[in-house]
Amino acid sequence: MAYIINDACISCGACEAECPVECISAGDDKYVIDANTCIECGSCAAVCPVDAPQPE
Ligand code: SF4
Ligand code: SF4
Repeated sequence: MAYIINDACISCGACEAECPVECISAGDDKYVIDANTCIECGSCAAVCPVDAPQPE
């Protein structure tokens, strides 16, 4: 289980700095979460302006 960033992402970058395990990075057309590292803390969802990170 992990959070996944959906297509609503506008690549603002806000979530990347909030992740305690640094598993968020910029992808080709949106930011992406490394599912193997995510601890499901929800911090990314809390700061996202478009609710793109969602629990899997
Ligand atoms: Fe990082 Fe937490 Fe978001 Fe997972 S839920 S990507 S650990 S901020
Ligand atoms: Fe995308 Fe939301 Fe992260 Fe911004 S905070 S990069 S819109 S997932």
